[in-house]
Amino acid sequence: MASDSGGTPPGPPPGVRILVVGGGYVGMYTALRLQRKLKQRLRSGEAEITVVTPDPYMTYQPFLPEAAAGSISPRHVVVPLRRVLAHCTIVVGEARRIDHTKRTATVTTLATAEDGTGAVEIPYDELVLAPGSVSRTLPVPGLAEHGVGFKTIEEAIGLRNHVIEQMDIASATRDPAIRDAALTFVFVGGGYAGVEALAELEDMARYTARYYHNIKAEDLKWILVEATGRILPEVGESMGRYAVRELRGRNIDVRLDTRLESCEDRIAVLSDGSRFPTRTLVWTAGVKPAPLLAHTGLPLNERGRLVCTARLTVEGTEHAWAAGDAAAVPDLTASEPGRETAPNAQHAVRQAKVLADNLVAAIDGRPLKEYRHSYAGSVASLGLHKGVAHVYGRRLKGYPAWLMHRTYHLSRVPTFNRKARVLAEWTLAGLFKREIVSLGSLEHPRAEFEIAAGRHPRPDDGDCQ
Ligand SMILES: Cc1cc2nc3c(=O)[nH]c(=O)nc-3n(C[C@H](O)[C@H](O)[C@H](O)COP(=O)(O)OP(=O)(O)OC[C@H]3O[C@@H](n4cnc5c(N)ncnc54)[C@H](O)[C@@H]3O)c2cc1C
Repeated sequence: MASDSGGTPPGPPPGVRILVVGGGYVGMYTALRLQRKLKQRLRSGEAEITVVTPDPYMTYQPFLPEAAAGSISPRHVVVPLRRVLAHCTIVVGEARRIDHTKRTATVTTLATAEDGTGAVEIPYDELVLAPGSVSRTLPVPGLAEHGVGFKTIEEAIGLRNHVIEQMDIASATRDPAIRDAALTFVFVGGGYAGVEALAELEDMARYTARYYHNIKAEDLKWILVEATGRILPEVGESMGRYAVRELRGRNIDVRLDTRLESCEDRIAVLSDGSRFPTRTLVWTAGVKPAPLLAHTGLPLNERGRLVCTARLTVEGTEHAWAAGDAAAVPDLTASEPGRETAPNAQHAVRQAKVLADNLVAAIDGRPLKEYRHSYAGSVASLGLHKGVAHVYGRRLKGYPAWLMHRTYHLSRVPTFNRKARVLAEWTLAGLFKREIVSLGSLEHPRAEFEIAAGRHPRPDDGDCQ
């Protein structure tokens, strides 16, 4: 590079600025690998990595059902990004827009909301888009008002508290209609999120019912609504059929080929004409790509995923990379052409590795590799000591499948620290009784003080309904 006309000696070339949007599976694993591969360059200032994420932690989503059941503490389901990504800059905030022609991301943070300065612009040279997905809802009347998703730790713990709270309400009320609605739990969507969440919560509530003088486990009504003719497609047809039998054997009402038509006024109306007054409606009927993608100007497919190449670059674009739930990556192992890799953790983790390697290769001017992974199958828990698995052609059910589920996820949960803590919790849970309290009041920490300070009257019995 020539020096400028003033004869100033050239400074060191500016470092490559890598911006990772999202701190989930892909975001965290990509940044982790980049941090390792670019260690020297990060130290010398030749490279810098910034991770923008709404939460300062990565959520290990496959453990959410166990967190809801109380088998794992919420803080052990999440990985602190500042600790594992010690050489990256973590910005807790949300990318609102990407201008890839100008190479800038518009980001809002808690501080920009507090001081009213508006969004900040973060410039970059290489962009990694990993914002994942959000719940895919349908225009079902009443769903937005009464439904809850099952994608975050807050939702999982909120649901646990809510289920136990409904049992407390049912135990205390003298109104049979309120009791009936409180003890009716409707889950919509029979993928692993919905089935595992329902199965774990039912198991927990069945156990908890022992401690109520006037609630028997049989009084609780659990309904799984699935629009297609099967559940758990991830574990194959025969294991899906087994899961239906297992759940029905526990008195769970599994309704296949059925849709939720409405849940207005807290009454779940199904397409088979049945109606269930309920105070619990969990929506796990699929995911759609993060809304941010629509504000990037980058190519999207008909389902809103970023169109990517098998090298995990965004199609027709330089210096933009993507993987995971947000990316439509061609599945090179599929028998029919045109298939994309499914949105699951199995692909997300492996894609992150290839993406990071390719990004470093691109910086160094080396050739890129293609992502290729044939789906190994899946494992699902159906509650304590119960499960189904279909992995590398082997089918397992019951206790062996549950054990495989735990072993697999223990080996997968990031960091040795988390593994040790989760294992310790499982071991202790085997020795002691299950926790059965609802800590729903944690969601309103100031309530007691506000009542004491006379700001709000203590709610009377009528307000408790
Ligand atoms: C309950 C449950 C159980 C599951 N079990 C399994 C399983 O057993 N096996 C399996 O293979 N898969 C499972 N999955 C699916 C798996 O968790 C996802 O496929 C995986 O998390 C996708 O990784 P990702 O990095 O693309 O997205 P995520 O891990 O969801 O990460 C996306 C991140 O981006 C952040 N983000 C979103 N928008 C923005 C923005 N605008 N700016 C900055 N950051 C943003 C999000 O907050 C999040 O941190 C499960 C999912 C759920 C919900």
